Amino acid sequence: MKHAWLTVDLEEWYHLDYLKDFPCRETGVRVAPQIFDFLDMLDEEGVKATFFCVAEIAAENAGILREILRRGHAVGCHGLDHELLTNKSLEQFIEETRAAKAMIETAAGAPVTGYRAPCFTMERDKLDAIRELGFFYDSSKIRFAQHPLYRNLDLEGFERADDLVYVQDGFSEYEIPTLDLLGWSIPISGGGYLRLFPFWTLRLLLGLYARKHENFTIYVHPFELTGMPLPLPEGLGRATRFRCLVGRKRNLKKLRRVIRWLKRRGARFTTLEVDRRERGLS
Ligand SMILES: [Zn+2]
Repeated sequence: MKHAWLTVDLEEWYHLDYLKDFPCRETGVRVAPQIFDFLDMLDEEGVKATFFCVAEIAAENAGILREILRRGHAVGCHGLDHELLTNKSLEQFIEETRAAKAMIETAAGAPVTGYRAPCFTMERDKLDAIRELGFFYDSSKIRFAQHPLYRNLDLEGFERADDLVYVQDGFSEYEIPTLDLLGWSIPISGGGYLRLFPFWTLRLLLGLYARKHENFTIYVHPFELTGMPLPLPEGLGRATRFRCLVGRKRNLKKLRRVIRWLKRRGARFTTLEVDRRERGLS
């Protein structure tokens, strides 16, 4: 392996798409301020990561954003309010994203040049729009073999610069990889699967992935990086409850093992901003 990019979608647990119709926000429980063990783990492993922040929680997490930058990580934008981009008109998206970028920049005290769409819902016209707004890179492309059209961002005009990296006129798109197995794409790079599978299964799947790939992206969320209890709403179905809670307590340890596995395979962890610089893109 060559490159590994650890990315964090810095959002609250109530931003999860299946919780957004419940009054979770009012509970006052916040997970984003609980990522210090995770930050310490990254320091211990010598890993630099990229944090895409939901703008509406940037101000209340200003201290954390500055700490993230102080430790040598990068900060990007994960939308204004985590609403899916497919639910927004282009005009609304442009207006909100301009505001979101400024909100995060004010909170972090640094320029924000990277973007990740909530739930990977980036669309081509919106990708073109963020370039106009001053973003230099995006990481929203994910491909599912079982849904050839579903969320498969159109990158016509981009050149494949490297495994998972596409470039057009200095703007870069970083793909979130899936593992193709028996006609299915398994999102081994993050979310529920990373928590659900025991490490030995993950190691097996990563080994299969590494046969065909040189680079890897991981994505995680604050609620997966802390075992603190979440006051899930009563009306939540059992399957959703399981999906939300499975493997949270042991996840930080497992993530460290995944990081070490990738490093042993030769992967080098950098922020996406440093990766761009090393490719001569900025
Ligand atoms: Zn998200």
